[in-house]
Parts: sequence; C-alpha cells; structure tokens
Amino acid sequence: MSTVFIGDGISTNQNGDQLAVFYHCKGCNQLLAVGCNINNQLRGAVNLNLLKGVDQLGDPIQVQPRLLSADQKLERWGKLWGFLSGL
Ligand SMILES: [Zn+2]
Repeated sequence: MSTVFIGDGISTNQNGDQLAVFYHCKGCNQLLAVGCNINNQLRGAVNLNLLKGVDQLGDPIQVQPRLLSADQKLERWGKLWGFLSGL
C-alpha cells in the first residue's frame, strides 16, 4: 500500500493492483470514496454509509472485485462509477 497525503483532511491509499485509489479521512480513517483514473478522467464511488438519503439512490450492487481481472474492473468501473471532483 502506498499512501499519499493530499489536502488537509484526506489521505489516499492504492490497493494491491494499483488500479484504484482509496480516500480516507485522516482524522478517523473512515473510507470516504474510491476512485480511479479512467481515460484521463477521475471516476469513482463514494462510501454510501456516509450519505444521507441513501434510499434515493438506486439499489446497491453486490460486487466481488476479487473475481475480476484488472481489465474487467476498469470496464466495470467505467460503466458504474460517476465522476469525482474536489478530491
Ligand atoms: Zn473523520
């Protein structure tokens, strides 16, 4: 795991295959979001546990990323994830 501190309150970690970046609160180490650079755009998903009004979103999707290859992950994330900004 490599950790880079960006800004005052957020630290980032990359997972084993270096595909995704995990954003954590430096105060409590809560996972805030996960992101990945796809086609030069920062895409990602926020941690649903942090959001209010979660029931206004679609149903959660069960995923088993460990079963996916790197290419399959990128393809999946490119379809599912929104665009991140402000991180
Ligand atoms: Zn915190």
